[in-house]
Amino acid sequence: MDFYVITLFPEMFESPFRGGMIGRAIEQRILAIHPHPLRPYGLGRYKQVDDAPYGGGSGMVMRPEPIAAAIDAVCAGHPALWKVLLTPQGEIFNQALAREFAAKTEGILLIAGRYEGIDERVRSMVDQEISIGDYVLSGGELAAMVVIEATGRLLAGVLGNPDSLKEESFAERTLEYPQYTRPEEFRGMRVPEILLSGDHAKIRAWREAEARRRTARRRPDLLERRKF
Ligand code: SAM
Repeated sequence: MDFYVITLFPEMFESPFRGGMIGRAIEQRILAIHPHPLRPYGLGRYKQVDDAPYGGGSGMVMRPEPIAAAIDAVCAGHPALWKVLLTPQGEIFNQALAREFAAKTEGILLIAGRYEGIDERVRSMVDQEISIGDYVLSGGELAAMVVIEATGRLLAGVLGNPDSLKEESFAERTLEYPQYTRPEEFRGMRVPEILLSGDHAKIRAWREAEARRRTARRRPDLLERRKF
């Protein structure tokens, strides 16, 4: 699966995906990340991509023409890309959206903003607007990386053991159950006896109950949503 990113800072994408499972997936050609620099589409001698906001106000706003030209250039060879604008005003990204994105086999184009944001007219050129949370970043690059990481690990062949996707947090709209490894006792805290019992049916029941209890305590909103 191909992820294209229109960005003023393509070099930001060089190291984060070099290691780990996404790095391996890139080597295995399960996915590819193509940062597409915005600057060459800038206007005039100085390749300007921003300008002062109409109506006044602080900061600069990204002009629509360079972004439109970059979108056209990327989509010329890949017309079916799903175009996503990264903005704190978008739909909040979550595991369900990551699953939807992982099914977009034609690939995804992510557009990372900077400055005070992007000219409103760019919104008409995209399929979806996504936010990674209710806070404001300086740019969309980190948001693009979050989307790529969360989506990429769901692609077939990326995780060593695909079963882990079934049990992890949000898979069933609950948080994951508590996990333990060696040693059996650490600073006076013991691993729950049931996990040492070898009784797999009981262990499964314990984990389900713990996942529900933990979710009710920490994220009751997830259980509420599950009712609908
Ligand atoms: N002035 C804008 C506003 O209040 O909505 C915020 C602009 S922000 C400083 C610059 C860029 O960072 C945005 O265009 C967007 O691409 C990216 N960005 C910031 N926060 C984000 C978030 N929570 N999710 C996704 N992208 C975000």
